[in-house]
Amino acid sequence: MHNLEVYNSLKRSKEQFKPIAEGKIGMYVCGPTVYSDVHIGNCRTFVSFDVIYRFLLYLGYKVRYVRNITDVGHLLDDGEDRISKGARKHNLEPMEVVQRYMNGFHKMMDIFNTKKPDIEPRATGHILEQIEMVQAIIDNGLAYEKNGSVYFNTKKYLEEGKAYGELSGRKIDDLLSMTRDDLKNQDEKDHPSDFAIWIKASPDHIMRWNAPWSVGFPGWHLECSVMSTKYLGETFDIHGGGNDLKFPHHENEIAQNVGACNCQPARYWLHTNMLLMNGRKMSKSEDNSITPQELFSGDSKHISQGYHPMALRFFMLQSHYRSTLDLTDDALKAADKGFKRLCDARKTLMSLESSSANGSKDQEIRGILDGAIAEMCDDFNTPKALAKIFELVPIINSYADGKIAADSISQELLASAKKEFEAIYTDVFGLYDPQEEGGGSHDALDKVMRLVLDIRQDARTNKDWDTSDKIRDGLAAAGITVKDGKDGSSWSV
Ligand code: AMP
Ligand code: ZN
Repeated sequence: MHNLEVYNSLKRSKEQFKPIAEGKIGMYVCGPTVYSDVHIGNCRTFVSFDVIYRFLLYLGYKVRYVRNITDVGHLLDDGEDRISKGARKHNLEPMEVVQRYMNGFHKMMDIFNTKKPDIEPRATGHILEQIEMVQAIIDNGLAYEKNGSVYFNTKKYLEEGKAYGELSGRKIDDLLSMTRDDLKNQDEKDHPSDFAIWIKASPDHIMRWNAPWSVGFPGWHLECSVMSTKYLGETFDIHGGGNDLKFPHHENEIAQNVGACNCQPARYWLHTNMLLMNGRKMSKSEDNSITPQELFSGDSKHISQGYHPMALRFFMLQSHYRSTLDLTDDALKAADKGFKRLCDARKTLMSLESSSANGSKDQEIRGILDGAIAEMCDDFNTPKALAKIFELVPIINSYADGKIAADSISQELLASAKKEFEAIYTDVFGLYDPQEEGGGSHDALDKVMRLVLDIRQDARTNKDWDTSDKIRDGLAAAGITVKDGKDGSSWSV
C-alpha cells in the first residue's frame, strides 16, 4: 500500500492516513443547498472531492462516499429558510424548488465528469433521526428547550472538558453571538454561543414537522451529524467541505456528535479553499461573477472565449485543493492550452511502439510515473502530479519524432506507461479528451449531444419509452451509438 498523507484541519497538520477498518474508507462531504443554480465555486469544491474519491479508489480502497443534499434548515441572515424563499419567489412548492435545483446540480456534476456518491441522503428524509439526536443531546444534559426551540448548551459542553472551537480555532469568548441559523431568537439562549438544534416554526414558516418540543424544523448543522452517523457510523474516516463551513457548520456538527454519543464524528477533516475571480470573492452584487454556463459558452464580459468543461476541470486541478483558485481569463486560456497539449501527448503516447528489450529512458519514465502518484499521496497534490506528468510530454514527442532513438524505451515499459498514464488521466484526474468523445473536433455537436441525451434521460425517468427509443433509433440512423451505463449515457460515432 502507498503511504498516503492528508492535511487534517482538526490537527492543523499533515498526518499519515490510516483508515479505521483496513482497506475501507467512509467519507462524508457536505453537499449543496439546492435553492438556486449551482455556482462555479461549489463546482470547484465538488471536483476537488471527486479527485480525492477517485484517488482513494485508485489506491485500492473500498470507499463509501456520502454527499448530502441540504433541502431544509439552511437559513438566510434574515432567518428565512433558503428553500422556502425560493418557493415563494418562484411560486412553487418547496420540494419543487429542491427537485429543480437538485436536477440542475446533478447535470452540472455530470458535465464536470464527477463520479456519483454512493449515497446521497436528503435532510428532509431524515427528520425522525434528527429528532432522535436532539433528544439524545437533551438526555445527556447538553441541550435545553426554550419556547419550543431547543438550543445546544456550549457552556456546559466546555465545562465538561469538551473542546468547542477546536476545529475553527475560535475562542468561546470571541465567538460571535449571531450565527446565521438562529439570529431571530438571541434572547432565548442561555449563552450567546449556544446554537439552535430544533427551531419552532413561526406561523408563516412552510417547512414544518411535529416534534416533542414544537411544530418546527431542525437546525442546519444537525442533518450532517445525523446522516453521517446513520450511513458511516459514529466515527468514520474523512469529513469534507469548503473551508467556509468550518464555522459554525462543522464546529457545531462535532459538538452535536460528541453531545449525542460522546465520540468524535470524523478522524480526518479536509477543507477545500475558495474559488476567486480576478483576485476577489465572486459576488453578483459587485459584478464579479460568472456562471458555469457562461464559462462554457463564452457569453460573458469577463472572458474572451468559451471553455470546454474538461479544460475547466484541468484548470481546477492546476491548483491544490487547499489553495485559493483565482479564475481569470488569462489563467483559463493558459489552462486550455496546457490541457490540449496533454491530450495531444496522450494520443501520441498511445500510438507509440517499441520492440526493444531494454531502454535507456526507462528509468526516467518510471520515475516520472511513480513521482506523479507520490505527489498525489502527498495530500492529493494535483498541481505537482500534473507537473510530473508534463515531464513526460517532451519525451513522448521526441520519441515520436525520432529525436530520441527507437530503442530508448523498452516494449515492456512502454506498455505499462500507456496503462499508467491512462489510469492517472482518466481514473484519477477524471479527464477525457473532448476531441475523442465524438470521434472528431465537434464542440457544438458535443453540446447538442449532451442536450439530446438529457432529453432522453428525462424521457426515461418519466417512463416515456416511446420518446427515448425514438431518440436512440434516430441517432443510430445518423450513425451515433448510445450506450447506457451505470453512470449515465455516453455516445460515440
Ligand atoms: P452551499 O450550497 O452554499 O451549502 O455550498 C456547497 C459547498 O460549496 C460547500 O462545501 C461550500 O463550502 C462550497 N463553496 C461555496 N462557495 C464556494 C467558493 N466560492 N469556492 C469554493 N467552494 C465554495
Ligand atoms: Zn454539512
